[in-house]
Amino acid sequence: MPNLLLEVRNIRKTYGKKILAVDNLSFHVMEGEIYGLIGPNGAGKTTSLRIIAGLIKPDGGEVLIRGVNVHESLKNNRRMIGYLPEEANTYPLLTGMEHLKIYGGLYGASSEDLEFGARITGLGNRLLKKTSEYSHGMKRRLLLGAVLMTKPRLAILDEPTSGLDVHAGVSVRKTIRNYVKSTGAAAIVSSHNMLEIEYLCDRIGLIFKGKIIEEGRPRELIEKYGVANLEEVFTLLVRGVES
Ligand code: ATP
Repeated sequence: MPNLLLEVRNIRKTYGKKILAVDNLSFHVMEGEIYGLIGPNGAGKTTSLRIIAGLIKPDGGEVLIRGVNVHESLKNNRRMIGYLPEEANTYPLLTGMEHLKIYGGLYGASSEDLEFGARITGLGNRLLKKTSEYSHGMKRRLLLGAVLMTKPRLAILDEPTSGLDVHAGVSVRKTIRNYVKSTGAAAIVSSHNMLEIEYLCDRIGLIFKGKIIEEGRPRELIEKYGVANLEEVFTLLVRGVES
């Protein structure tokens, strides 16, 4: 039986007085599982992921990793969590390999970790080039390698395939799946692309206006609502919430 890795309990976050970005959101992730958080722009995905990564504090609720509160034990999280922000960029004058070394240095990566990270990027000799010469897809793969290099137990990946072409998107999805299935770690992946998430994730939470409005295995949800794909599940549910 896989173990429970992450528990998100009733987290809530308001920006200013009016914007309720995350509204009593709860879900859990097991070891060896890829969990997809999917929803439209502004639904609260990034805010939720930043709270789970320990970068911002929720106004209420708690996040537990293996039973330990993330916001009370930030040191413990350093090796447990890897976080790929949605808008992460690279330093143009540094090579891909220099990025891996700097990132690895912060996390105490071994030379094996560096090799592992380099392999994940799939960039081969291009790691020796300055990232100013990289395409968007190459940068995304480099940053994914940097995040997974130290083998975090929980990889938090905010829109890992945003802006990638079909080929690069497939390659990143394969990398995430291989990583989780070969290490027994877990990943949370956010996206508004419901079709790609259908292929990548074991379980998903559909997020709308800061709340999870439905959760389950993609196939089971599609069957439950008698539709062709997750996009249609989502459309049906949003209509229900708004009517
Ligand atoms: P997207 O898919 O567009 O990235 P998202 O689902 O990740 O969206 P969030 O970025 O979490 O959504 O935003 C949720 C809500 O909180 C939105 O209404 C957004 O405008 C608001 N918001 C997010 N960050 C801030 C901030 N720093 N200050 C004020 N409001 C914010």
